[in-house]
Amino acid sequence: MNRLIYLDNAATTQVYPQVLDAMLPFFTEHYGNPSAIYSFANEAKKAVDQSRSTIADLIGANTDEIYFTGGGSESDNWALVATAEAYESKGKHIITSKIEHHAILHTCEYLEKRGYEITYIDVDEKGTIKLDELEAAIRPDTILISVMAANNEIGTIQPLKEIGAIAKAHGVLFHTDAVQAFAHIPINVDEMNIDMLSASGHKIHGPKGIGIMYIRKGVKIRSFIHGGAQERRRRAGTHNVPGIVGMGKAAELAKANMDNNIKNVSELRDYLIKRVLDEIPYTRLNGHETNRLPNNANFCFRFIEGESMLILLDQNGICGSSGSACTSGSLDPSHVLLAIGLPHEIAHGSLRLTLSEQTTKEDIDYTVDKLKGIIERLRSMSPLYEDFVKNHKE
Ligand SMILES: *Cc1c(COP(=O)(O)O)cnc(C)c1O
Repeated sequence: MNRLIYLDNAATTQVYPQVLDAMLPFFTEHYGNPSAIYSFANEAKKAVDQSRSTIADLIGANTDEIYFTGGGSESDNWALVATAEAYESKGKHIITSKIEHHAILHTCEYLEKRGYEITYIDVDEKGTIKLDELEAAIRPDTILISVMAANNEIGTIQPLKEIGAIAKAHGVLFHTDAVQAFAHIPINVDEMNIDMLSASGHKIHGPKGIGIMYIRKGVKIRSFIHGGAQERRRRAGTHNVPGIVGMGKAAELAKANMDNNIKNVSELRDYLIKRVLDEIPYTRLNGHETNRLPNNANFCFRFIEGESMLILLDQNGICGSSGSACTSGSLDPSHVLLAIGLPHEIAHGSLRLTLSEQTTKEDIDYTVDKLKGIIERLRSMSPLYEDFVKNHKE
């Protein structure tokens, strides 16, 4: 049993060999600081520019609207905190959704403690934000709407274009945490009226610890990390050149293969979903049936506790994830599953499987076969299930 089936690509991805190859010379050969004057640093400088331009191109932005950061979490923190500070004189009200990543939600809590007011918009039972509620929440002192492009747990893709149109009509800035969507599905910052966008390298087969923020020209926000004059004085710190090169290469590969990847991965995802729903009773799919990330499947199995399922999957070499317990060892069910209206006891039995272009049909068949046995075994030990079966026989 040395098989490894990695189905946790929403948590992180493998760095592609081409990405690593592109990065390596910038550790050893072209190690110059891109901010330096001498020509030895030119290769590094050129590579940073090239990556910025590839990434800008992928979302329809201008090159000078892309800022490199230390990852998705930093970009999210920057977008919220710096916008809050820069637009304080207009107001202290921010709108977001109930299903954001903790990089957004915990930053919102931080701002609440500092006198900002945050409105958390509901989602429907498929995880789509309620647009009428969003629009109704806008007030004269609203400075920012931050809604994620696609949810990291249940995969639901949000109506970015509609949100952008609402934000624009009311003169409010729109930020989107696109960490799960960037380079996975098409995004265009102009068509969608996006003013700021967060993305991360390691969710797209690039390295960890590198991300970007897109900031539309004219948006006032300033530095979040203070120090040198890098990134047009908006993000200090010596450029992570290998990381930047790696993220650029990953974005380039994603762009070249996007249509194919979407088609192939979503076909495999649908095959996985169909097999699980057909072959494992008392199971539901979480998130939108069609309007979801190509690589995301998320299930709830009744009478099952997510943790034990993950441990047994791990014993079979399968990496998956559960909504609960991913944060600080807490056993609270996921805030996303509660927001789509699931009761606690059902939300506890959730399993997220996220595919990549490398996933094969054999991987899926092996996983479903193992999963069936695991669910059966866990249910056979569950008193709740026993009661349920007894009551149903009568
Ligand atoms: C992973 C993730 C983040 C955090 O990105 P890091 O680069 O790991 O800091 C933020 N938002 C979403 C939706 C994510 O999936």
